[in-house]
Amino acid sequence: MPLRLFNTMSARVEEFHSLQPNEVRMYACGPTVYDYGHIGNFRTFVAVDVLQRFLRQSGYKVRYVMNITDVDDKIIRNSAREGVPVRQYTEKYEKAFLEDAATLNIQQPDLVRATEHIPAMADFIARLEQKGLAYRAEDGSYYFRIAKFPAYGKLSKKDFAGMEDGARVDVDEYEKDNARDFALWKAPKPGEASWETAIGPGRPGWHIECSVMSMEELGEMFDLHAGGEDLIFPHHENEIAQSESLTGKTFANFWFHARFLLVEGEKMSKSLGNFYTPRDLVLMGHKPSSIRYLLTSVPYRHQLNFTFDGLKQAATSVDRLRNFRRRLSQAQFPPGANEAMTKLAQETVDRMRSALEDDLNTAQAQAAIFEMVRSANAAFDAEEVRKDDVTPLLGALEKFDEIFAVLADDDAPKMKTVLEWARATGREADISEELLDLVGSPALSDADVEEKIAEMNSARAARDFKRSDALRAELTAAGIIVENTKDGVRWRRK
Ligand code: AMP
Ligand code: ZN
Repeated sequence: MPLRLFNTMSARVEEFHSLQPNEVRMYACGPTVYDYGHIGNFRTFVAVDVLQRFLRQSGYKVRYVMNITDVDDKIIRNSAREGVPVRQYTEKYEKAFLEDAATLNIQQPDLVRATEHIPAMADFIARLEQKGLAYRAEDGSYYFRIAKFPAYGKLSKKDFAGMEDGARVDVDEYEKDNARDFALWKAPKPGEASWETAIGPGRPGWHIECSVMSMEELGEMFDLHAGGEDLIFPHHENEIAQSESLTGKTFANFWFHARFLLVEGEKMSKSLGNFYTPRDLVLMGHKPSSIRYLLTSVPYRHQLNFTFDGLKQAATSVDRLRNFRRRLSQAQFPPGANEAMTKLAQETVDRMRSALEDDLNTAQAQAAIFEMVRSANAAFDAEEVRKDDVTPLLGALEKFDEIFAVLADDDAPKMKTVLEWARATGREADISEELLDLVGSPALSDADVEEKIAEMNSARAARDFKRSDALRAELTAAGIIVENTKDGVRWRRK
């Protein structure tokens, strides 16, 4: 069965077919790097990661491009407020985004930065102007004339019949129901970053960035364009207007939108105190694998209500899978095969595939693997598992993990990195006991350290260097620096 995906453009679930055989070209709107990404952002990025992983698992060659919006209204405002150049301001958050994405096992797409494509954007706008689709305002800004694109509204299903020709909006994000000519290019304002280009000085609007970069990287027509549901209007509607009015071609075949995440049933917002970044959660002692698991536990088109209970359950689920894999890899089994186990593994692989083909039903794919674990554990206990059953059962787990990516037991080093980041950035107050317990560290009292050093010394005296090295590594991991001096061993905290 081919993959079936909901296409926001047709507003129904369709069979997915790529433009070129066996090759998918897709684009996701990436982060605006003006702050740390929050778990809502990562819900969307994890959903797109699941999609591209599944396409690859299905045999497609995938070209997946994501932009980094490193110039926009918010960035300009914040960098001006801090009195630092735009690049300096965004670098920190871009780096943080990439680290967080890696922490959540998001495979890195090909990245493109808006500020590195400014001449191409100016050129695109010049071509729109030549075709009468854009016009220059008195101050040197350029606007898209939406009256020239009668299909405007086709993605968001908004009816703009009564719109006022020539009314303009110059902010990137707006929620107005009546359409406005939107800014393609913004004339410079005092104190704002701007670029000298063929259409004059200024900076690009947000929407033009994505049209230009996606077409440059993937061609005028490509397979799929993705983002969170808030991007449907105006961002994606505007991208379509700019791109299709210029090329006369269908811009993207599929429009993939992830539904917004709620926290404990409410919209996430700083004022409600329910606003979390992945780093916040790690500082509270939650594992990255639990976060990723929870983010994938509800199919992307359904509302995901992020709760702390859910996060605990996710941790239990991941543990159960890891324990099962450990049990399977370490136990000794009698020779031969139990046909029922081979069949169970194969059926599980098929069920996971059918679930994901059904508009990426991640919840069902997870249910399938848990049913396998339950049945196989029962068979274990009844001593019905044989040596040759191990490979197919492990194979099913691997297939699962190609998409969900939670089996590798790598939470501790990732959490440690977040811990170090918190210490380096003055966020010590946010470091929880749970985190300290998990990644061990200054929880070691002075007496503990002394005891270990004494043990280290006797191990060395006995020429048991393996043991003494292991003890030293343990101390280093706990943030203790051990030095050998002529007066003996000294230690200090990092
Ligand atoms: P931004 O950095 O604000 O441009 O957003 C990056 C991505 O996160 C976009 O695809 C947004 O649609 C998505 N996004 C923002 N908030 C949420 C949320 N609460 N739930 C899911 N996706 C979100
Ligand atoms: Zn975009």
